[in-house]
Amino acid sequence: MSEQRSKPTGLYIAGEWITDTDESIVSKNPSNSDEVVAEVAKGDRSDAQDAVDAAVHAQDEWASLTTHERGSYLHETASIIEDRKEELSQLVVQEMGKTIGAASGELQRTIDLLNYYAEVARDAGGNAPPSASENTLTYTQREPWGTAGVITPWNYPIAIPTWKMAPALIAGNTVVFKPASQTPTIAAELVSAFEEAGLPEGVINFVPGSGSDVGDEITTNDDIDIVTFTGSYQVGDHVHTAASDEGKRVQCEMGGKNPIIVDDSADIDLAVELTINGGFTGLSGQACTATSRAIILESVYDEYIDRLIERVESLTVGDPLDESSDMGPKSSAGGLEGDLDYIEIGKEDGATLRTGGNRLEGDEYEDGYYVEPTVFTDVEPDMRIAQEEIFGPVLAVLEVADYDEAIEVANSVQYGLSASICTNRLDHAKQFVRDIETGIVKVNQTSTGVEMQMPFGGRKQSSTETFKEQGRQALDFYTHEKAVYVTHTE
Ligand code: NAD
Repeated sequence: MSEQRSKPTGLYIAGEWITDTDESIVSKNPSNSDEVVAEVAKGDRSDAQDAVDAAVHAQDEWASLTTHERGSYLHETASIIEDRKEELSQLVVQEMGKTIGAASGELQRTIDLLNYYAEVARDAGGNAPPSASENTLTYTQREPWGTAGVITPWNYPIAIPTWKMAPALIAGNTVVFKPASQTPTIAAELVSAFEEAGLPEGVINFVPGSGSDVGDEITTNDDIDIVTFTGSYQVGDHVHTAASDEGKRVQCEMGGKNPIIVDDSADIDLAVELTINGGFTGLSGQACTATSRAIILESVYDEYIDRLIERVESLTVGDPLDESSDMGPKSSAGGLEGDLDYIEIGKEDGATLRTGGNRLEGDEYEDGYYVEPTVFTDVEPDMRIAQEEIFGPVLAVLEVADYDEAIEVANSVQYGLSASICTNRLDHAKQFVRDIETGIVKVNQTSTGVEMQMPFGGRKQSSTETFKEQGRQALDFYTHEKAVYVTHTE
């Protein structure tokens, strides 16, 4: 880690860092809960109001720049983060516990997102369909929506804020950003990189604080025009209602219960690897798109299960900074408790615990929130472990007779974010793409992992389905589009 640079901490409002608040947030390392990563100032409602005022004040001037000029700040921010990629990857690991490989991937994605939207900025206007009249020019013009409230979770603590703020900024909006309280330090680093890139004061304002206080103020404040939220369904549903009641444009991306279907033609080794990568490695199942249900046709069930269990039991759980670890800890004590509760529920509901199921203790695990990778078989579709988002390395395996039953089971949940099928049958692949009720559909890929030029978002309780994130489509959320008709009279 760099020793010269002091870490940004606290709130960032109107171009000033504020550290003298009454309360602070103590960010701890989930692989060693005695280790304090940082103590950062904690904002409250009045700080959020100050942040909104600063963002509103900065908005006209920011909107008056060309999209090219706004994009150049993103390129500069990307280059600053690139210079610190290793240091910031380690900070992500220390603050939320994903493995160093996954953290490094998240940092690269952050850099790529900034550069992508900097380039999208060059082409971020409307379009110009030809008019029916010879003397008329018709075109559409995008204009910023205003001041955006950005509320984010801890599991992708730098990439998610980036994929929200980058399109918001190039579209000419200013931002009030509230990070998750588990990961305020890495979020502050992102804001600091924007500051160092010379972003004008007030364009991004940053207020770490509690959801019920700062989050609620951002959701309901009269001067916030637009709210983008990523997190759980329970909170997102509330944010959606509260912001909509105030007449705001709102977009919420929420939880998932993502399946992989394995059919009778599948390459079983590939199916097992897709399950392992989607459900266990890197983030310990803490991705919204994580594979949490494996729906297996009976003709390949035994073969799949034998190989899966062998592979799960070969995973190395340990220090996430150690490159040989496949899985680190859960990100918090609450997350660990949640997993252990669901493991008990699975047993009580009659599923068979095939492997895992325990907290890891002793030696290197002693002070961390480690849980064994866990697989349940004999899971029925209506069991809670097959229906509810666990957000941990706990996989429910369901056996089905055929493809039709597999699709029925896959769609029998309230969530609809991502889904995968492992098959060598083109008919099943095509049917799956058509039948599955999710926003992201993968054939012979993990349910996790998306490309930034593609639209991102779920269906059902995974999303408000108001607007997509990522890709060029992200601009739709952050802009008004005017239809312009110009007729010349001579
Ligand atoms: P969470 O819902 O607990 O918190 C998300 C954010 O909302 C945090 O910043 C939190 O402080 C804030 N918040 C809490 N109460 C609030 C309130 N009353 N008003 C306004 N804001 C409030 O989620 P989490 O535990 O941080 O993240 C895990 C969840 O996020 C999982 O359900 C996961 O599936 C989901 N997630 C979804 C996506 C996606 O794109 N679909 C991506 C990542 C994570």
